[in-house]
Amino acid sequence: MATATLSIDLDAIAANWHQLNRMSAADTQTGAVIKADAYGLGAGRVARALAHAGARRFFVACAEEGAAVRQALGQGPQISVFSGHMAGDTDTINDLDLTPMLNSIDQITRHLESLPGRPFGVQLNTGMNRLGLDSVEWEAVAALILEAGPELVMSHLACADEPGHQMNAAQLTEFRAMTDGIDVPRSLAATGGILLGPEYHFDLTRPGIGLYGGLPFETANPTVALSLPVIQLRDIAIGQSVGYGCAWVAEAPSQIATVSGGYADGLLRALGNRAVLWAGDVPCPLVGRVSMDVITVDVSHLDQAPRTLDILGPHQTIDDLAAAADTIGYEILTNLGARYTRRYVEQPRRG
Ligand SMILES: *Cc1c(COP(=O)(O)O)cnc(C)c1O
Repeated sequence: MATATLSIDLDAIAANWHQLNRMSAADTQTGAVIKADAYGLGAGRVARALAHAGARRFFVACAEEGAAVRQALGQGPQISVFSGHMAGDTDTINDLDLTPMLNSIDQITRHLESLPGRPFGVQLNTGMNRLGLDSVEWEAVAALILEAGPELVMSHLACADEPGHQMNAAQLTEFRAMTDGIDVPRSLAATGGILLGPEYHFDLTRPGIGLYGGLPFETANPTVALSLPVIQLRDIAIGQSVGYGCAWVAEAPSQIATVSGGYADGLLRALGNRAVLWAGDVPCPLVGRVSMDVITVDVSHLDQAPRTLDILGPHQTIDDLAAAADTIGYEILTNLGARYTRRYVEQPRRG
């Protein structure tokens, strides 16, 4: 079978949630961000594992993602929607009991008119200039909104993965200026914000990437392994080239493994001639370009013909692979394609 296997360790994800939960201040609740199909790992399975671990508040990007999560979780846990209440979302929000994080006066009007009395939260812009009400808008409508009883007031940090960045303190100050004294739960921190320290935690944190084993959460348990089947082995002579564009030329007699998995499976083209795969403990360089369905790997130095090669595993995290492609672990994870066989493993461990 040429289909590669993506192993997803649900207990590692749960252990990461417990770790982040312990890092948060004692009276802070720890949520879980499972947008983009839980960063590509499967929102239903991940949501159930995290609910089992103790998570009660989940965040998704849009109402459609919320529907899938509600189906997996059943009634009870709160599912919040970062994009808020868009035109056309009203029935989904109502029927599935989603909590939109309202971003604008338009959304606030839409929600309070179409679903009066139904739960909502509010997002504030504290400097990232992406989502949420500006301070002037907030001042104008805060009294009305607080009257309607929001579940949460939240904002998002632009530079939390750089602890020394002055933007962090500036956004904290702005968030406090906009919300100190209100009697509504507050949330500012995602994974990076949790690591900045307790003054960033408020009532609820919203970790995403840290749950899945990515930076900036350095002590995270890795959660994914990706093992690719070798389709064919070939010996080539000095001067022969491999793959599209003849982008790699053998400088010595070489053995090349053609391996199942390409850019259609999320192995970014930028990995060409740069990534390393692993035969057990032995590194093997990816040579030539990444094709749509296959990559080519120099295995000349192996004692035994490999049947599979690992591209994510004990020797290579999502951030190692991201570094080889000049990107971030988030992009590696969310690109892992739909063609892999997904194997959910549960290996109980200490949190
Ligand atoms: C994606 C996202 C998060 C989670 O961020 P991580 O860096 O993955 O922890 C939290 N809050 C908002 C608003 C987001 O968009």
